[in-house]
Amino acid sequence: MTERLVVIGGDAAGMSAASQARRLKGPEELEILVFERGRFTSYAACGIPYWIAGLIDERDELVARAPEVFREKQAIDVRTAHEVVSIDTDARTVAVDDLDAGTRSEHGYDQLLIATGATPLRPPVPGIDAEGVFGVQTLEHGQRVLDAMDERRPERAVVIGAGYIGIEMAEAMLLRGLEVHVVEMAAQPMSTLDPEIGAKVAEAMGRMGIHLHLGVAVEGIETGDDGWIRAVRTGEGTLDADIAVLGTGTRPFSDLAAEAGVPIGPSRGIVTDRRQRTPVEGVWAAGDCAETFHRVSRQPVSIALGTIANKQGRIAGLNLGGSYGGFPGVLGTAITKVCEVEIARTGLGEQAARDAGFEPVVATIDGLTRAHYYPDAKPITIRTIAERGTGRLLGAQLIGEEGAAKRIDTFATALWNEMAVEELLNVDLSYAPPFSPVWDPVLIAARRADSAVRSAG
Ligand SMILES: Cc1cc2nc3c(=O)[nH]c(=O)nc-3n(C[C@H](O)[C@H](O)[C@H](O)COP(=O)(O)OP(=O)(O)OC[C@H]3O[C@@H](n4cnc5c(N)ncnc54)[C@H](O)[C@@H]3O)c2cc1C
Repeated sequence: MTERLVVIGGDAAGMSAASQARRLKGPEELEILVFERGRFTSYAACGIPYWIAGLIDERDELVARAPEVFREKQAIDVRTAHEVVSIDTDARTVAVDDLDAGTRSEHGYDQLLIATGATPLRPPVPGIDAEGVFGVQTLEHGQRVLDAMDERRPERAVVIGAGYIGIEMAEAMLLRGLEVHVVEMAAQPMSTLDPEIGAKVAEAMGRMGIHLHLGVAVEGIETGDDGWIRAVRTGEGTLDADIAVLGTGTRPFSDLAAEAGVPIGPSRGIVTDRRQRTPVEGVWAAGDCAETFHRVSRQPVSIALGTIANKQGRIAGLNLGGSYGGFPGVLGTAITKVCEVEIARTGLGEQAARDAGFEPVVATIDGLTRAHYYPDAKPITIRTIAERGTGRLLGAQLIGEEGAAKRIDTFATALWNEMAVEELLNVDLSYAPPFSPVWDPVLIAARRADSAVRSAG
């Protein structure tokens, strides 16, 4: 008998799962029906800031696979502009609105995958829904920003929130020639970084001409007679603005699941086991909407990253296709840039390590990305967090220029394997002058961390 898999959400997690399940089971065994409320599938939200910046010409370049390709090549029935409005887990049905036709229909499922992603946090201030205030979560959002840039020729942008999306959007606006203000409630940009590295990010943004307002809350949006934004009111005064972008972070978009009685965890993500199954029979979840666990803190977390969503989607797809897959947890490894400055992190910061019950020992080094005599050797600062006594690596954060950021992957690999900094400093990493000094900055950082652990006793 043919089973039916219904997938809610047609991006990274949803389409990875659908494709993986299809590889394992043909259409005669498994019917796959995907509902996506937007117009696109498998799009790279990660590319939106660079598209808005003008570095990528065509929106379609951000689409890895269009709905018709899924239909024709993989027999996956993708229905765009279809929004799932409720789930009945007893009857095993979903209610779906066809957004073009304005009709509602009901569809049964044997297995259901919820892959509804994350939703941007909107500060609850007057005027936040005004015209000219944009999120950048989907390609439709990105298109709206670009249309506004063409039609209104804004000169001043205010980015609300200095998370990594806020920072990338500040760079985009700067590259488009706008005067850019970033308003951030915390005392530093990118609050998951330790203050020492956060301060360096702030300093770099200032050098680039981005006006950073730290420790400042947005209190409201003022609009002109046409309803379009004209200023952002903050605790520090009013900033003129022709356009505003939200970079205040996201939360798991788990509302649909919660309304259907699917358990939600402390991080607001949908509770899943290693195989991406929720506690409700026949219901699965993957991607930004799902909760997972942190491999170092052992705590439940929801971290909105494409890296995680794609992997979880694959695991769900393996299981839904009749094979076996287990998701092994996350480290929160992330990387970004603002103009020429690269920033990356993995694992726990100092305070997070303390909160998780570790006694952290912290060490920082300044180094170079290439041999000091080789042209274009760039600065890099690395901060390591290790456990007192055992020397186990708990986290690393870095900031630098070209060639710096991807070094975080070596730390992530060490962290994944629960290595001590003493082991890391002896790892046989590569060297030639165009790529690194003979002691790569990663090894120097591990050496410094090892000394700090020994001194801490
Ligand atoms: C601007 C930006 C930059 C980013 N940069 C990076 C980066 O550099 N690196 C990185 O790792 N990650 C990055 N991310 C995060 C990454 O894009 C997400 O983690 C990833 O897209 C999550 O995939 P997902 O499938 O879980 O959710 P989403 O990609 O959000 O997809 C969920 C889909 O579900 C649909 N949907 C929701 N509710 C319903 C419903 N009721 N009915 C039908 N459809 C529904 C939505 O329309 C959406 O298309 C970035 C995100 C943004 C917004």
